[in-house]
Amino acid sequence: MKKAEVLVLGAGIVGVSTALELQKRGIGTILIDRNTPGLGASFGNSGVIQREAVLPYAMPRNIITLLKTFAGQSTAARLHLPSMPAMLPFLIRYWWHSSKTRHHALATPYASLIERCIISYERAMEGTDARELLSPDGILSGFRSQRAFNAARREADLMAERFNLPLTHLEGTEAIRQVLPHIAPEFCAATQYYQSVIVSDPHALLMKLFKKFKKLGGQFVSADAMTLVQTGEGYTVSSDSGPLQGTHVVNALGAHAALLTAKFGLKLPMGLKRGYHIHFEPVPDAPLTATLADEANGYVLTPKAAGIRLTTGAEFASLTTPPSPIQIEQTEPIARKLHPLGRRVETTPWMGIRPCMPDMMPVIGEMPRQKNHWCAFGHGHQGLTLGPVTADIIADAIEGKSPKLALEPFAPGRF
Ligand SMILES: Cc1cc2nc3c(=O)[nH]c(=O)nc-3n(C[C@H](O)[C@H](O)[C@H](O)COP(=O)(O)OP(=O)(O)OC[C@H]3O[C@@H](n4cnc5c(N)ncnc54)[C@H](O)[C@@H]3O)c2cc1C
Repeated sequence: MKKAEVLVLGAGIVGVSTALELQKRGIGTILIDRNTPGLGASFGNSGVIQREAVLPYAMPRNIITLLKTFAGQSTAARLHLPSMPAMLPFLIRYWWHSSKTRHHALATPYASLIERCIISYERAMEGTDARELLSPDGILSGFRSQRAFNAARREADLMAERFNLPLTHLEGTEAIRQVLPHIAPEFCAATQYYQSVIVSDPHALLMKLFKKFKKLGGQFVSADAMTLVQTGEGYTVSSDSGPLQGTHVVNALGAHAALLTAKFGLKLPMGLKRGYHIHFEPVPDAPLTATLADEANGYVLTPKAAGIRLTTGAEFASLTTPPSPIQIEQTEPIARKLHPLGRRVETTPWMGIRPCMPDMMPVIGEMPRQKNHWCAFGHGHQGLTLGPVTADIIADAIEGKSPKLALEPFAPGRF
């Protein structure tokens, strides 16, 4: 039998950051995953530490966009129709929370997390060589119609003023070409955010944090988190090498987290937004010099160690639905028209699942009526950004310290 103060379930960016933070504070931790670390959503995301994302990702409520999505004509969002009945409780609440007034009100709690992301990464990376994977290049949001740009501009300026975010609006191709010299004249305007940090390989970043966790004496064990049971004063997970026991347990199972909370009596309306990536060889003499979001089509193009990565928007589908990378096929020709891209590096696209809550807030805190059972999941589009921030909150709670920010908006019992 292995014993530790804390069992952390799930070795994605949230679990690894949490295990590292605990171990750094001298709290013995066993990190548990059924796979090797970092093979979930944290493996292949766009790799943007989104310091600018003070507004979480809302559902568009514009009727034309909704009709296009339901008709399967949107490249940004796709619905797997057989999964819809089960996802309806999520979708209805997500729609409700996405009204402009409610969405803008969410910026206050969300920004209280987001504004800590850079400093939390700085801390997490101390004593590692992970900084070599990061560049402070910012991100560019591109718009194909003046109308879409005007609406986005109003919102961006409002948030910039509220939260002191530096940004510049670039109008016309020549202005955009100052940042991306090889872009075709497809965008009428773009907004450049300066504070976002680009990670050249999100999986390599996670592995560097994991290595540090191990170096500090942390243990990693391969096991199924769904075997978790409450035993006496603590919690036990079964593994091939015997039971794993902890006084505390942290659920950082990403898209699978709600399966475990349900087993402990808490049903959560989690929605799953799948996303895909594929890499292209860079074209000599036409490098992609910045990370770029095509807002109308919901994809991102970003320079990565493996090539130019195209990541897709959201596909709403259940956990058991086989991958269907239609959005890669739809967006590749659009992206090729926008910027020179070489041959595909892989034949099969990668898929990851964003775990999303209908109020767009992550779930961070203690389970109702379950002492020392902590939730750390549901970070949706910004899980890479918020991994180390979440780790700091959970570690403070386990140590019994007063929280550094108001945690009610993230409480597991709020639904
Ligand atoms: C295409 C795409 C682009 C994205 N771009 C960005 C971005 O630029 N910036 C950003 O901040 N976020 C981005 N995200 C979101 C981000 O990737 C996720 O929010 C984040 O990775 C979630 O991390 P996690 O640790 O919660 O989950 P995961 O990384 O999915 O980790 C969960 C872990 O739990 C394990 N697990 C599950 N069930 C069990 C079980 N029964 N037993 C044991 N282990 C189990 C899994 O094996 C996995 O390792 C993107 C996501 C996608 C899909």
